[in-house]
Amino acid sequence: MTALALSLKNAIIRYGRMTAVDGLSLELRPGETLGLVGESGCGKTSVARAIAGLQPLSSGELAIGGEALGGSPAARRRDLQRKVQLLFQDPASSLSPRLTVGALMAEPLKIRRTYSAESWARIAALAESIGLGKQLLPRYPHQLSGGQARRVALVRAIAAEPSIIVADEPTAGLDISVQGELLNLLRSLRDRLQLSYLFISHNLNVVGRVTDRVAIMYLGQIVESGSTRQLFSTPAHPYTRALLSSNLTVDTQRRGDRIVLKGELPSPHEPPTGCRFHGRCPVARAVCATTQPRLETLSDGRAVACHFPSETGFVQAMTG
Ligand code: SF4
Repeated sequence: MTALALSLKNAIIRYGRMTAVDGLSLELRPGETLGLVGESGCGKTSVARAIAGLQPLSSGELAIGGEALGGSPAARRRDLQRKVQLLFQDPASSLSPRLTVGALMAEPLKIRRTYSAESWARIAALAESIGLGKQLLPRYPHQLSGGQARRVALVRAIAAEPSIIVADEPTAGLDISVQGELLNLLRSLRDRLQLSYLFISHNLNVVGRVTDRVAIMYLGQIVESGSTRQLFSTPAHPYTRALLSSNLTVDTQRRGDRIVLKGELPSPHEPPTGCRFHGRCPVARAVCATTQPRLETLSDGRAVACHFPSETGFVQAMTG
């Protein structure tokens, strides 16, 4: 059996007394794009940083290519962690303004001490193939368009020869047409280089277009996960339904079925008792305020954490 590209089991991430990620598990299969979706503040960036090795887990287990990092010798952990590269949402934060495009693209090779004429030729050819021709090499980041800067960041990520890219809102702030180009590029690079992507976004149009599977996060936990087709056509968790219904371009048939969420995302400092979504859920019942639903796998293969998944007829309620 092929090893998973990555797995996270029962991950908990705490900042002081605040628990930002609470018992989260996810699996990324080789060659797939998994979307991680949720409102800002739900913990998705903490998950991205933990997977990229920038944030320690308070508890839980991260495995890359089937090998658990916990318990591995430090040198092995570093090697495994290098297989994951993070594509930042704002390239300005990852591209030094003092380096030219050429120096920026060569930097990851130099850091890894793998710089050679061959490795540079490989990276320069990759850059050329995605529209970063030689004429751009002497330019500085401020002389690039938004789309070009994202491509430079992408080349830097790929220069480290990862097997997994964690893309955190990679299209944020781009025009629709540039967004489309970047998404097509990400897809073709994934297929060409056999990469797996964890694609973090709150933009459901983008997620619906590029992902194979989706996990929906709410207040530090996964509330529903399954194939993109399943979740977008028949969302079972009330929160998934609300997210989709508020995004009118995802499915125009839902225009008359809009679910408006009450209130704001509660503070992770004091998560609600029972189901964390109960204070905003349009179909909450008494049990929801006291008993936390477990993430259960339904007969159609998706996993849902709700006592009453879908009241629209396509999935049976799991409990009373
Ligand atoms: Fe809503 Fe209850 Fe399901 Fe939570 S468990 S999502 S409150 S119906």
